[in-house]
This record gives sequence, C-alpha cells and structure tokens, in this order.
Amino acid sequence: MRLDELKGNRSLKRQLEGPVDLPHACVIAGPEGSGRHTLARLLAQTMVCTQEGLEARPCGLCRSCQKVVEGIHPDVMWVEQFTGSEDKGVEVKIAAARALRQDAYIRPNEARRKVYLIDRPMNVNAQNALLKLLEDGPDYAAFLILTDNPASLLETVRSRCVLFQTAPPEEESELQGESEVRWVQRWVKALCSGAEPPLMECAVELQQEKVPRETLERVYSSLRQLLVEGLTAARRRHPFREQLAALPRDRLIQLIQLAEDGRNQCQRNVSVGHSAGWFAVRSWQILLGEPNHVPTQNQYPMVGGME
Ligand SMILES: [Zn+2]
Repeated sequence: MRLDELKGNRSLKRQLEGPVDLPHACVIAGPEGSGRHTLARLLAQTMVCTQEGLEARPCGLCRSCQKVVEGIHPDVMWVEQFTGSEDKGVEVKIAAARALRQDAYIRPNEARRKVYLIDRPMNVNAQNALLKLLEDGPDYAAFLILTDNPASLLETVRSRCVLFQTAPPEEESELQGESEVRWVQRWVKALCSGAEPPLMECAVELQQEKVPRETLERVYSSLRQLLVEGLTAARRRHPFREQLAALPRDRLIQLIQLAEDGRNQCQRNVSVGHSAGWFAVRSWQILLGEPNHVPTQNQYPMVGGME
C-alpha cells in the first residue's frame, strides 16, 4: 500500500507495506490526531482505486480515488449516511446499523468493493446487529471501524476484525517535519511563480544546506501529495489551491509523476544535489510544455557540482 500521507506510524506502515490482503473487517484504533481517518481513507481508496498497472495503491489520482477524497464515491460510505446526522458525537443505534446492513447486501455501484466507514461509537444493539455481517458478509463488502477506545467494542466485534493501531506522531519527527514543510512550500511557490530562477535556487540551496536524502525523499512525497490535493481541490484551505488550479491539468499530472520519480530516485542512492537539480530542470520543462530532454537514469544534470 502507498501510505505517504499517513504521518508517523512507522510500525503500522511496515505492517501494510508490500502486497497485503486487505481485511474485510478491521478496527482502526488510536487517539485523536493519530491518523485514523487518513488510514481509513487510504484503505478505502486502495479498495476502489481503478488505476491500471500500479505496484502500490492507492494512486490518489484516478477518478475513483478523487471521489473518495471528495466524499462522493457511491461505494464508499460513512456511517453518517445511515444515522442521518452529521454530529460526530451521535451514537450509532440499531436503526442505522440495520440500514447499513441492508445496504451492504446490495452490490457495489461501480467499484469492485463496497466500503463502510464507521467513525462513531456504536451502542450494544447496533454492534450486535452488525455481527453476522462482520463474520460472514458479502465478499465485496469491507467494514472499517474507527475508535479511540477499542474497549467500547464488544469482544464479539473485536474478534471478527483485524486491528490496526495508530499512534500520534512523535515530537522529534514533528520538529524534523517543520523544515520539510518549509521545503515543500518553497518548491510549490517556485512552481507557481512561473519563473525559472526560484526553481533553480531551491535546488542549489537544498544541496548547500546539506539536506539528507531521507528528508528530500519525504519532501518529494509531501510535494506530490500537495499537488494531488491541488488537482482535486480537495482541501478547501489548500495554501496554493488557486495557483495550482491555474496550471493546466496535464502539466499538474506530469509534475505529480515527477515528484513520484524523485521519491523513487532517493531510494536509489542518488545525491541530493543531482536529484534536486534534475527536479528543478524537469519541472521547468514541464511548466513550459517542453518534452523531456533530461535522461532520468543516473545522469541527472548537475546543480552546484557533485557531492
Ligand atoms: Zn486510484
């Protein structure tokens, strides 16, 4: 699975790396802010992603992935569609559980799977009403139960689910994250500036500041995410939404792919200066609508010399 968007949670990521059989029922347990909703959304996207020929899902780009982010995928449903209330504090009662259960026996509309996300406390009757479904529901149906208190779930519910435990980000990684965020913002600003020098300056300074390769890898990763969100305009408060929306869609998609390639490079011992220089040059070419003149294998254009 592709889990870049999930902050921290290293052991959980290892658990979900590589090819995994996604469970049809799972409990995602962790405190507020630990990434429960992000993980749930990524799992849901993975189950409905329609991008062909991918090693790791979700792609985040296909129409299905985007619909999940926008909350309009017909086969990915939050429990509030059954409780009829948007108030997160409202408990799921038996009527909502029964409505959900009935819905689950109707085949998916367009995806291979049908995913139910339950991010509210369920009373005992509601939990009991879902037992058979969790145990022996239709193959296509998946149930993701989010909770900050797994003890509030009946033992009979828990025993039918795979448990994913999310943890809040450690303080250290948050500090580290601060400089990463700064770099990501600089790159996006440079990309939106419509000028070449800011891009090249970013590349040179990344090398001068001796940014470690692992950091650059995470910068590419976050940059990719920010660009994807710019594409879908998923986050209303996206800091660069308007600027990114002004870019032609096909170029934005090429930039997303470029950031992905950059991330992959970082896993293959490329030097930070080479990679950042390559990224600056290629992104400028993409912005100009020029074809790729830069070889992507091993021969990156140099910015600021060899390391
Ligand atoms: Zn997708």
